[in-house]
Order: sequence, then C-alpha cells, then structure tokens
Amino acid sequence: LIQIYQPLNFLGFVYREIKQSLTDMEKMFEVIRTGADIEDAPDAKPLAVNGGTVTFENVFFHYSPDRPILKDISFTVPAGKTTAVVGASGAGKSTLSRILFRFYDVAGGRILIDGQDIRGLTQKSLRRAIGVVPQDTVLFNDTIGYNIRYGRPDATEEQVEEAARLAQVHRFIAELPEGYETSVGERGLKLSGGEKQRIAIARTILKNPPILLLDEATSALDSHTERDIQAALDHVSHGRTTIVIAHRLSTVVGADEILVLDKGDIIERGTHDALMAKGGRYHDMWQKQQEATEAREKLVALADSG
Ligand code: ADP
Ligand code: MG
Repeated sequence: LIQIYQPLNFLGFVYREIKQSLTDMEKMFEVIRTGADIEDAPDAKPLAVNGGTVTFENVFFHYSPDRPILKDISFTVPAGKTTAVVGASGAGKSTLSRILFRFYDVAGGRILIDGQDIRGLTQKSLRRAIGVVPQDTVLFNDTIGYNIRYGRPDATEEQVEEAARLAQVHRFIAELPEGYETSVGERGLKLSGGEKQRIAIARTILKNPPILLLDEATSALDSHTERDIQAALDHVSHGRTTIVIAHRLSTVVGADEILVLDKGDIIERGTHDALMAKGGRYHDMWQKQQEATEAREKLVALADSG
C-alpha cells in the first residue's frame, strides 16, 4: 500500500504544481486573448503625448451586431482633469475603458488622444500611456515588491517604497515579517481587496502614465479602508487625465464632469452640484446611496452597542 501511496502523493504534488502554473498561464492568456483581434495599422505611429486629452467622438460600439452597447457617445476629458462615469450595472461603463485601451475597435466614431485617432497608433505606445487600476486586481504569484515594480522594472528600491507610501500601503508591507519580499497569491499571503487595490495603485504610481483608468470596486468598504483608498487615488490621479468608473461618492463629488450612462446613452452630464440641482437620475442615485450608507452606519452602531 505504501508503495502505491508514495507515487500517488507525488502525483498529487505534481498535479498541484501544474494546476498552479496553469492558473497563472490562464491569467496571461486572458490578457493576450482579449487583445488578439486588434492589429497595428501598417503605418501605425507611436502616440505623441501632449498633456493627454481624451476625446470620444460619436462613438458606437457592440460586441455583436444585434446588440448595440454604446450609442453615439461624445465627451472630452481635458488634460489633467477627472471625468467620472456612473450608471447601473450593464450600462456600458467598463466597455468605455476597454475600447479606450483598444481591446476592441469602435463600430462608429473615433477615440482621440491629444488629437490622434487611437486606431493609427501602435498599441504598445497607447498602452504605455494608460495606467489601469481595475475592479479586481490580479496579482502575480510572486513577491509584493515584484508586483509593484512590474509598473517600472528598472525602479530602485527607494522608488518602489515611495510609490507604496503614496498608495497608503507601505506601512502595511513594512510590518510583514518579510516586508517587500513577502510572497502573495496562492502560495503566500492572502490579501484583502483593499490591500490588493492599493498595491495596484502603487504599481500605477510607479508606471507614471499621463492617462489613468480607474474601475472602482463596488463592494462596501469600511470607512477606514475607504479613506485610505481615497487618499491613494487622490495621489495617483493628481495631474493625470483620469476616467473613473465611480461607485464611491467621494470620487464622484470631486470630478470635473460626471457622465450618467444608461443602456449605452449619456442621459445626464455635469458637475455634482449641477446634477444635484437638476433633480434627475443622478440626484436619485445619490439619494439612494446616501440612505444605504446611513442604514449601514446605524447597523454598525447597533452592533457596537449590543
Ligand atoms: P458596466 O461596466 O456598466 O456594468 P459593461 O460595459 O461591462 O457594463 O457591459 C455592458 C454590456 O455589455 C452588458 O450588457 C454586458 O453583458 C455586455 N458585455 C460585456 N462584455 C461583453 C463581452 N465580452 N461580450 C459580449 N457582451 C459583453
Ligand atoms: Mg463594469
């Protein structure tokens, strides 16, 4: 029995190793496959960044022709300004960021960066200019330091630390027994969503792109974590052209323009104050979120007193 058990045990080990590397490979293929259909134009030029103004001009988009997703979307994010996009799930918010990153091409209209149609640019230069902090950060199965340095492989230890400091995650890392050498992922430390997001923010600060795409997490965060993340986001978006798919009231309030997206249409746009005064969809969404926050705080207070 032992003779049989030993190889089986070994096979189990091999299986787990293979499964692990397959998981990592799947993540990689996910990234590659999403962009596989798009090829550089024969005369593609590198993007010449001049502040990083982003313009969507009468953009139409669908994943399949029988189902339009974006219908005649036009907006401009001036260099260094922040535009927030809000709207119900399925409205097309994340699609906006996918087509700006050129995972897909538009079906009509144009997307311009500093006046250059992104279809005429090399994808390499386009993607180098855009930093993404996604909704669900996937970290590499490696050390925390590696995961941050990925934003700029030649960064010094001091630069990695400085980025982590600005992202409000340095203290957390420094208190780990192995610090920046701590492994994350399936074979190492399990991180919370907020910690992963702040590591992704540190990576983006290090990458230093002129344009930033933030897809905020929907999950309710405790107010302490929310404050930390907001501070981190303020640092990373400062002076960069930022498009934020926003769930947190704090980000929305400070945005230079808010777009309310509904089934692929912009149904309202303006600053927080203007939209609140208008008393339309945005006003209703805000009211609802406010009530939900108050209800949550009451529950927490109740739990604390009980
Ligand atoms: P949001 O971010 O506002 O929740 P998305 O932009 O992710 O919405 O999606 C908009 C619509 O497009 C949804 O109805 C969604 O089901 C659909 N969709 C998203 N990704 C794909 C895809 N890869 N193929 C087909 N449909 C998709
Ligand atoms: Mg989304």
